[in-house]
Amino acid sequence: MRNELIVGVSMGVLAFLGLRGYNVFPILLLAALGYFLFASGGQLRDIGRRKVGAVAGESPGVTFHDIGGQTVAKRELTEALEFLRNYDRARQLGIRPLKGILLSGPPGTGKTLLAKAAANYTDSVFISASGSEFIEVYAGLGAQRVRELFQRARKLARERKKSSAVIFIDEIEVLAGRRGSQVGHLEYDQTLNQLLVEMDGLTFEDDVRILVIGATNRADLLDPAIQRPGRFDRMVRVDLPDKDGRLEILKLHLRNKPLAKDVDLERLAKETYGLSGAHLESLCNEAAILALRQGASEISQKDLEEALDKVIMGEKLDRRPSEMELKRVSVHEAGHAIFAEKVRPGSVAEVTVSPRGNALGYVRHSPKEDMYLYPRETLEDEVAILLAGALAEDMVFGSRSTGASNDFERALDIAKRIVSYGMSPLGVVDRDTAPPEALARATREIISRAESRVISVLKRHEDVLRQIAGELFEKERVSGDQLRQLLGKRSELRWKWRKIPVRRGKTKAGVEALTWR
Ligand code: ADP
Repeated sequence: MRNELIVGVSMGVLAFLGLRGYNVFPILLLAALGYFLFASGGQLRDIGRRKVGAVAGESPGVTFHDIGGQTVAKRELTEALEFLRNYDRARQLGIRPLKGILLSGPPGTGKTLLAKAAANYTDSVFISASGSEFIEVYAGLGAQRVRELFQRARKLARERKKSSAVIFIDEIEVLAGRRGSQVGHLEYDQTLNQLLVEMDGLTFEDDVRILVIGATNRADLLDPAIQRPGRFDRMVRVDLPDKDGRLEILKLHLRNKPLAKDVDLERLAKETYGLSGAHLESLCNEAAILALRQGASEISQKDLEEALDKVIMGEKLDRRPSEMELKRVSVHEAGHAIFAEKVRPGSVAEVTVSPRGNALGYVRHSPKEDMYLYPRETLEDEVAILLAGALAEDMVFGSRSTGASNDFERALDIAKRIVSYGMSPLGVVDRDTAPPEALARATREIISRAESRVISVLKRHEDVLRQIAGELFEKERVSGDQLRQLLGKRSELRWKWRKIPVRRGKTKAGVEALTWR
């Protein structure tokens, strides 16, 4: 109200002066400048005042028992934390205080959970921030925020009568990337320097002992200075969970959900190779939502499998492919599935042709066991499995479709890697200096060999290919067990198949000749 009055009176005075013939333009210019400075000054003050870091409640509540798998990470972390718990003994023994621990690994593997559990384990207050919160375009603010974060941690610990605090900095590579490597790097450098100064200043004598836990999924980007002794000198790897880890995580997230009798968590753990803890948590949640939608009182294996499809491939799309497209996709996926099952018996978990995310259909594989080392044969099988979709289309429709482009990209990528790993007849090669033609020839040979293998298998199983494609076309999904059953019944099918006239070709007639039953 007061502001409006001032503006009103000023306008009146200006109008009066204008009418009396005074030049009011310079006054207007000054007023505009004043207003701009006032407004942007406020904004700057706001940015400066913004606090970094979220404070967890009285205690973050997470314990190491709430974290599935990660046995090695948990062991290494608890070992490192002993110094905070047995601080007097560590001091007597003259152990240098541990100031920082780096957790490195893919997103969603439980790094934040581990940091929270560490705070709980050491009875510390927990304060967390993300690397990006420190970075502003205004110079000096990042460094100021680092200082404030440490001050807040100390204050909070004193208020809560604790003798230690855990400061968790997620995405620490944003704040602690190699100095000089960022655009506008002065601000980044100052912020990192401040973090190092704060960490260097931590001693045993402090009334609040501070432990900084940094998390990153790009440890390669970190400035080497932060890993010097006395800073983040412990690096703990937090990898994707193995099968036993996945089983534990699934059990943890399903512990308070009612499960139907048919639920087989061992099997689900096997089928979820490559998924992180966060994916598994989301899978359990999605399965419960599906059960709710159907009005069921328990979560069934089907709900869990459907939720798995959703987590891997995305939400089911409303978009329905045309009948012709669906036939093609069915043949394509059946091709992948049959070849995969032939070279890795028991590995196909499910084949579906319902559009999800970017895919029109897909085959879910469940490897017998988690793999950490890939021999050449395995990689060549992978190339062949990827090519099998397009080759099945070729066989049935006489042509390929754009649906295979991603398969080709991946197949070529693996073939190139086979050459780079020194597994091709070229032996150990340096991709940068080897003649490009030789590299291209070696890659081409891998692809051709895979193509011939696929063609020979698909030719021998053309009957099953059509049978499975038909099944997919009608029911949208075929389970791994059904697929194996159909492959087992091959001889019977072949006999039936002879009675069905099959014509092939690029023409419509050829396509129509695809008989589904
Ligand atoms: P990160 O910090 O590694 O990105 P988070 O610790 O934030 O991952 O994990 C995100 C969520 O995923 C957690 O809240 C939890 O529900 C689930 N989660 C991840 N890893 C695990 C695990 N090892 N055990 C149980 N739950 C997990």
